[in-house]
Amino acid sequence: MLRISKADYDLIRWEAERSYPHECCGIILGTVSGDHRAVTLTLTCDNASTQSPANRYSINPERVIAALKLARSRAEIIVGFYHSHPDHPPRYSETDLLEAHWFDCSYVITSVEHGRAAATRSYVLVGSEDHKGFEEEKIEIVAYEPALPVAN
Ligand SMILES: [Zn+2]
Repeated sequence: MLRISKADYDLIRWEAERSYPHECCGIILGTVSGDHRAVTLTLTCDNASTQSPANRYSINPERVIAALKLARSRAEIIVGFYHSHPDHPPRYSETDLLEAHWFDCSYVITSVEHGRAAATRSYVLVGSEDHKGFEEEKIEIVAYEPALPVAN
């Protein structure tokens, strides 16, 4: 399951609309307990795909390294990635699976229909490089989560 604040969820969907008719993409930081990933920060990225940004996305490797360093400094990890499907369903493509290498991470896809964000779905990458697959997971949207425990 992917637990995400309404603000981060809205940001991902807004990015999908803003980038239309191109794909948007970004990195999601957070924490993991069991198979629950909790989003703490969404990092928007430029789509580095110059060949066909309307149906491909690419995140600059330097951006990923910076995200890893940032995550470490926050005692967090990269819990996922997001991108959009302009005028295509929120279903992962063969290319999405082929280019996914972060196991146990969430791959969030938002479909955009005529410039408006439609469905958002999330898939976990499971298996190994030789035999991998995506499993759809539930997205839990939380309205507000206190960052610190409240002292009595
Ligand atoms: Zn895709």
